[in-house]
Amino acid sequence: MTTIRCPICDAFLDADGEAALTVILRAHLGNVHDLHPDRDVMAGGKAQEHHPQLWEEMKRGTVPTDEEVGEDVEDSVLCPFCGERIRAHAGDDLTSYLRSHLQDAHGIPTLGRSRTLVH
Ligand SMILES: [Zn+2]
Ligand SMILES: [Zn+2]
Repeated sequence: MTTIRCPICDAFLDADGEAALTVILRAHLGNVHDLHPDRDVMAGGKAQEHHPQLWEEMKRGTVPTDEEVGEDVEDSVLCPFCGERIRAHAGDDLTSYLRSHLQDAHGIPTLGRSRTLVH
């Protein structure tokens, strides 16, 4: 079980594994913050079209997946907007990486660095 915080409102979101975490995050962003990704990054067909290289690498096993088990296990979640994989050793780090990514890549104001600007 991995627990992250919503990058925007700090709500706890927990799920088991990258795919479930991504689904929960996307649902939360849509339901609570009215942020709707214009495409479904989790839908296999579409993702294959948009990220052929990534999916090819996953099939070849050069991209580590959830199946990888070891002492150095990382948690990961996909950005609900562009499908980029965000990885970290702890849920807290995952949350802050996600905040940075949403802010830098998608211009979404988050609690992170813009905390003082949020009223
Ligand atoms: Zn939220
Ligand atoms: Zn993204």
